Amino acid sequence: MGFRVGRRGKGEPEPPSWNDFKAEVAKAAKRKPAKKGARGPLSNLIPLPPYRPPTPEERCQFVKANGEQCGLRHMKGATRCHYHGGYRQNPTHPATVRMFREGRIDAIEAERAARRVIYALPPKERKEAQSAAIAELRARGLDFRNVTILEGIEAYRAGDGGRAWRRWCANLPTAKGGQ
Ligand SMILES: [Zn+2]
Repeated sequence: MGFRVGRRGKGEPEPPSWNDFKAEVAKAAKRKPAKKGARGPLSNLIPLPPYRPPTPEERCQFVKANGEQCGLRHMKGATRCHYHGGYRQNPTHPATVRMFREGRIDAIEAERAARRVIYALPPKERKEAQSAAIAELRARGLDFRNVTILEGIEAYRAGDGGRAWRRWCANLPTAKGGQ
């Protein structure tokens, strides 16, 4: 979701490493404090200009598997759009900084870390617990977040007669939209 710059096109700049990226966003977030309060009267609002398709230079440089180039406009200071790595390419972009402030960059990092831990487990120790955790999330209509699944796996394998597991299940939020 806009943070991976996979399959770079020719001539595209190398994105910063994840750690450099995070450090730069953190710096930018400190530098530009979020504006608070009203930004002037509503009468200042001007209607959006009509949609104009991006020129070839403005187009996201990502090339899809079918060989077509992405049709969206690239983000400012990037060669990619918001789907294809634009956030990662420009750590000082206001949208990237906003993501950081909302904790969404930390959340992505936590997801990756949890995924690494899950798949570092030997399949014999992982599979049953992982399936059980996913089944619980599915039954509740919840997203399959690796952070949550990892907690479930640990609870399942706690070896305490199922107490940790039951607690994990009981503490899961109720389904989105509720039933
Ligand atoms: Zn794109």
